[in-house]
Amino acid sequence: MKKINLKKTIPVVVLLGLFLYWVIPESQIPNPVDGCNSENYDHQTFWYPWGDHFHRGIDVFADSGTVVRSVVDGIVVKLHRADGGNKGGGNYVEVLGKATRAYYYAHMCEIAPDIKLWGFVRQGQPIGKVGKTGNANRDDCPPHCHFSIHTWIPELRNGRGEVKYRRWDRYEKLFYINPIIAMGDSTH
Ligand SMILES: [Zn+2]
Repeated sequence: MKKINLKKTIPVVVLLGLFLYWVIPESQIPNPVDGCNSENYDHQTFWYPWGDHFHRGIDVFADSGTVVRSVVDGIVVKLHRADGGNKGGGNYVEVLGKATRAYYYAHMCEIAPDIKLWGFVRQGQPIGKVGKTGNANRDDCPPHCHFSIHTWIPELRNGRGEVKYRRWDRYEKLFYINPIIAMGDSTH
């Protein structure tokens, strides 16, 4: 029998363990908005045609000022403080967690002061408060947290989307996670 070379085997096992820890996502994430559950969002809004694209996440409706918390441990990879316009996500934060999944929280009325670009956040740490900044800054739009999950590892169970607007729309859906499924809520 060949003798196992521990000097070589141990680092390989450790690296494999770290890789498996990193590549396997959380089995279930909480709702990011305090006090909210499956009744605070519309179950049909993930990948709903919206404007010139598909709605890539869900909108969790809550009173302005309700605390939004990170659903995972991760690194802040995007942070934007809005300057009063009505475009895009307004005040938004994106946190990169395990398995290449990036969690995006938008339209917040404020971002928590200790949230810094490239800083670490813990699951449950407040990252901001529900608001209506960015393209939610309209009279007909109640305050909400737009929540979406992007992934670079294709999510095959999503199925490809229909082609609606552009050539890549059909494939784009593979790179988003349905937050409703990730939170363990039913999609129906
Ligand atoms: Zn939205």
